[in-house]
Amino acid sequence: MDDDIITVLDHVQRLALQLVEERWPGEDPARRGLALCEEAGEVARCILKAADNHAGYRSDTDWAAQLETEVGQVAFVLATIAEANGFSLGHALDIAISDVEGKPTAAEREVARLGCMGCGQELVALPSGTLACPACGLAVSLRDDPELG
Ligand SMILES: [Zn+2]
Repeated sequence: MDDDIITVLDHVQRLALQLVEERWPGEDPARRGLALCEEAGEVARCILKAADNHAGYRSDTDWAAQLETEVGQVAFVLATIAEANGFSLGHALDIAISDVEGKPTAAEREVARLGCMGCGQELVALPSGTLACPACGLAVSLRDDPELG
């Protein structure tokens, strides 16, 4: 992730915790975990109620629009948790993104399932995103090479 984005998120989390501490001084930090669960539940509620296939739960509320508010509140609570525990939410997001990037894409899983063009054996995904045949060593990458632009 871009360092500028992490710097902005660092500012946001300092502000978020400051706002909370000014309004609820001395609040038990464990309550932030409860607040996170509450807000996550509200995200789920908006998704359920916005779904056309969830008959009986429809109302005049614009649940799709409300979802944005609730996602913001989840992010706000996460920001206060990161700040109170002395780490960067931006850095934590960067780690999470890298973890997902290290997993094979649907296309890579499909190619792996189809097997090696040389011997037919199922290919294995390496953390780099390369698929390799454990039998004959053939390697295939379906990802753009940043070195090649
Ligand atoms: Zn092979």
